[in-house]
Amino acid sequence: MDHFLYRNGSLHAEDVALSEIAASVGTPFYCYSAATLTRHYQLFKEALSPLDNLVCFAIKSLSNVAVLKLLGDLGAGMDVVSVGEYLRARAAGVPGERIVFSGVGKTREEMRTALEGGIRQFNLESEPEMRALSEVAASMGLRAPVTVRVNPDVDAKTHEKIATGKSENKFGIPIARAREVYAEIARLPGLEAVGIDVHIGSQLTELEPFGQAFDKVADLTAALRADGHTIRRLDLGGGLGIPYTRSNEAPPLPLDYGALIKEKLGHLGCEIEIEPGRLISGNSGVLVSRVIYVKNGEGRDFLILDAAMNDLVRPSMYGAHHDIVAVAEPAPGAPTQPFDVVGPICETGDTFAKARDLPLLAEGDLVAFRSAGAYGAVMANEYNSRPLVPEVLVRDDHFAVIRARPDYDEMLKRDIVPEWL
Ligand SMILES: *Cc1c(COP(=O)(O)O)cnc(C)c1O
Repeated sequence: MDHFLYRNGSLHAEDVALSEIAASVGTPFYCYSAATLTRHYQLFKEALSPLDNLVCFAIKSLSNVAVLKLLGDLGAGMDVVSVGEYLRARAAGVPGERIVFSGVGKTREEMRTALEGGIRQFNLESEPEMRALSEVAASMGLRAPVTVRVNPDVDAKTHEKIATGKSENKFGIPIARAREVYAEIARLPGLEAVGIDVHIGSQLTELEPFGQAFDKVADLTAALRADGHTIRRLDLGGGLGIPYTRSNEAPPLPLDYGALIKEKLGHLGCEIEIEPGRLISGNSGVLVSRVIYVKNGEGRDFLILDAAMNDLVRPSMYGAHHDIVAVAEPAPGAPTQPFDVVGPICETGDTFAKARDLPLLAEGDLVAFRSAGAYGAVMANEYNSRPLVPEVLVRDDHFAVIRARPDYDEMLKRDIVPEWL
């Protein structure tokens, strides 16, 4: 459920009409609902209760500092995959003890910055990285708290680009090697193992792959404890999927996911960490765009929007579906027609939807892409020299621009023409 509903014939974010924001900010823009972000975070907290737990928001899904502050103030931890994300979490006021550092290629500089600033744990992804972190931490007179991200060789049954838990994926250390790796960690001067980490992919729509992974983590916990290691935390990653259409069957609920965690791992007495991104941010955001032209092609009509693949890349990158709705509520029973919904970018990949049944939209009308809060603004770029799309946050009856649309001067200023040209 979210807080984007029609009221008085117009799509609102909470108590604010999206048309009002469009008039003030221009289009396209992302709009997030504070109430929806809060609710989704709370769903996980309720699902994990009464386990000792930390819900670490995966910043990579939506990294605006205002959103991070909102979640951080509720008590959320953060899952970061770069020092840039680490600095965002800190800028949002999140203490280092609530930040976990994931990612396959952490550099020594990134490790040093996080160790200096404070970090809850590093999730190690390879043996060379393990040795590098030990060196960095030891050189600072520290022992870095670590987990090993194990690759359980489980099929997450999701899109190939976001499946991460099979042995052929680049992520983690094969679970069969885990005991050797923990033995080496115990010998290294700069590391202290605190737990185990696993993350098998994103947009999972079934619980079964999670169950398989959690079973393997439970077995590994017992084996490592028998080897004499202290395993007090289990980081179970993120990945719970969201409904992108209102018609398809609903993915599992956080409550059922929490019940599975308790069933499989509750008896181990570990602190549970999870790293949800999409489920917190996805349905908390929409992308609002205006129709520039309606073009009647041969056998099809194109709705040409002022948003493009540079603003929302998921349809062209993953073949993803986003519901597209008119901001002005169509009358009940109003006619629809199929449109190819496209952006202005000079490539055919800049297509959001084909033959999508929509109301009879016209030039100047506003549309909203639903479920665009996750992997939307964060993946935006300036392709075709289109300025980065702005972001707006709504709470109750007020809104604020939380990232402004850059002007063209700002864009041009970044390029440097050498003197010798
Ligand atoms: C991407 C990612 C997540 C978040 O995934 P969602 O599907 O957005 O929940 C969590 N942990 C790690 C390590 C990730 O790479």
